[in-house]
Amino acid sequence: MKLLIIEDELSLMASIVQYFTQEKFGCDTAVSFEEGIRKIEDYQYDCIILDINLPGGNGLQLLRYLRQNKNRDGVIILSARDSLDDRIAGLDIGADDYLTKPFHLSELSARVKALIRRKYAEGASTLEIGILKVDLPSRSVFSNGQPVPLSKIEYDLLLFLMTNRNRVVSRQAIAEHVHDGPAEQIPSTDFVYSHIKNLKRKLKEKGCHDIIQTVYGLGYKLSL
Ligand code: CA
Repeated sequence: MKLLIIEDELSLMASIVQYFTQEKFGCDTAVSFEEGIRKIEDYQYDCIILDINLPGGNGLQLLRYLRQNKNRDGVIILSARDSLDDRIAGLDIGADDYLTKPFHLSELSARVKALIRRKYAEGASTLEIGILKVDLPSRSVFSNGQPVPLSKIEYDLLLFLMTNRNRVVSRQAIAEHVHDGPAEQIPSTDFVYSHIKNLKRKLKEKGCHDIIQTVYGLGYKLSL
């Protein structure tokens, strides 16, 4: 799961990143309006945590830009305590949720996870395709009811393919999605190949055959 945190208060940013890294999210960061725009243009995120008052522009403008140009990434806005107008405007423009500063990181985490459940499993806590079942809160995968032990990257990879079911996903998109840390630091996409191979092997061992296909020259596709 990949988060983008757009926030110019560096100490708050650091504590959000630390908290979500422990919760096994990949965190990318932007500290200004410009940097935020650049990141959302170039990469896809499961959830964007967006501060309203940013150097170089307003978070609401950034949200408007995001919604006008493609993007269905989940957005939680962070607003000052006294700015009811910002919260209403934010929800109108298409934020999925908001949180008023100051807040507890555990609450932000609960909101992020609820948003991801709504986005990926339409509110349910499990995602099922054929004999494969993913329990989102516990990050557990089952094939025909048998647990499939996966590493963090393999789990993120499987979930990414499942949520893009029947679509070809490029190796580059997978690399950006499962890589921890800033997207521009991905050394090469070669590591995707070995994770796909291990994931396929582990699924096969539990009776789930040929669910992930290689589409030569393009990427990978999950279908049943
Ligand atoms: Ca700010």
